[in-house]
Amino acid sequence: MRISDRYTQAAETQLPVFSFEFFPPKTETGFGSLYRTVQDLKLLDPDFVSVTWGAGGSTRRKTVEIVVRIQQEIGLTAMAHLSCIGSTPDQITQTLDQLAAGGIENVLALGGDRPSEYEPPPGAFTYANELASFIQTHSDFCLGGACYPETHPLAPDSETDLRNLKRKVDAGVDFLITQLYFDNADFFAFEKKAREIGIDIPIVPGIMPILNAKSIRRMTLLSGAGIPSELQAKLTEVENDDMATRAVGVEWATLQCRELLDNGAPGIHFYTLNKSTATRAIFEKLRKG
Ligand code: FAD
Repeated sequence: MRISDRYTQAAETQLPVFSFEFFPPKTETGFGSLYRTVQDLKLLDPDFVSVTWGAGGSTRRKTVEIVVRIQQEIGLTAMAHLSCIGSTPDQITQTLDQLAAGGIENVLALGGDRPSEYEPPPGAFTYANELASFIQTHSDFCLGGACYPETHPLAPDSETDLRNLKRKVDAGVDFLITQLYFDNADFFAFEKKAREIGIDIPIVPGIMPILNAKSIRRMTLLSGAGIPSELQAKLTEVENDDMATRAVGVEWATLQCRELLDNGAPGIHFYTLNKSTATRAIFEKLRKG
C-alpha cells in the first residue's frame, strides 16, 4: 500500500491513519523483542509502521531486513527511513533496489544528522530535498519527509526552515511527519504557516509518550522539544516514580491526540521507543472517548 493513498482515504472517510515507529535493535536478543512488540501492536490494527535509519547509515542492512520482514511475515505495511548521511548515490540506489525487491513501497527521505568530523562520501546528498528528488527520478516510491513544529534546531529561523520544507515538498514528498513535541499550539501554528506558503500535503503529528525521567531528558536534548509548564509541573510531582511518570506521559499524549484528531489531524505517528505498553494504553483511552 502506498501510504499517501491511505491519507487520501482518511480525508474522505474521516478515519485517521495510525502509525508506529521502531528503531533497529543493537543486539540479536533485541530483534526477538522488537518483533514481539510489533506483533503486539499489530492487534491495534495500525495503518503502517516505520523503521528508522541509523545515524551515519550504521543500520543500513538492518533497516532493510526489518521492514521487509515486518511487511512479508507480520503482514503490516512498512516504511523504511533513509538518510543522506554516509551513502553515495550508488549505495542509495542499491538500498532502494533491495527495498523494492522486498515489496516495500514507502520511504521516509531524510537529511539526517551529520556526525561530528563527518566526511561525506563522493556525491553524497546534503539535504532531504536532494534525496527526495533523486528517489523520485530513479524509482516509484511513495515518499514521506520530516518537519519541525518548533523549527529544526539548525535552521536560522522558522521562516527559512519553512521555505526549506517547501523545497522538500516540491521535490516530490507526499506527506510529512513532525518531530515529537508536547504542545499542540506549536503544531497548529506551524501547520497554519505551512498552508500559507502552499504546503498542501498531509502533515502528521508525531507523538512520543514520556516513559520516564531519563527518556524525557534524552528526548528533549535530541529533538529540542520544549516541555510546557503544565506538563513540567505534573512531572515534577512524580519525579522519582517511573510508574507515575509514565501515567502522566500517557495522559498527556492521550489529550494531545484527542485534540489533534478533533481538529482534523490526518492521523497520529507514535514514536514507540520499541515498547508497546504506553502506545496500547493511549489507544485504549482514545477508544473510550
Ligand atoms: P532536511 O530537510 O535536509 O533539513 C535539515 C536542515 O537543513 C534544516 O535546518 C533545514 O531548514 C535545512 N535545509 C533543508 N534543505 C535545505 C537546502 N536545500 N538548503 C539549505 N538548507 C536546507 N534521523 C536519522 O538519522 N534516522 C532516522 O530514521 C530519522 N527519522 C526521523 C523521523 C522523523 C519523523 C523526524 C522528524 C526526524 C527523523 N530523524 C532521523 C532526524 C532527522 O534526520 C534530523 O532531524 C535531521 O537533522 C534533519 O533531517 P531532515 O530530513 O529534516 O533534513
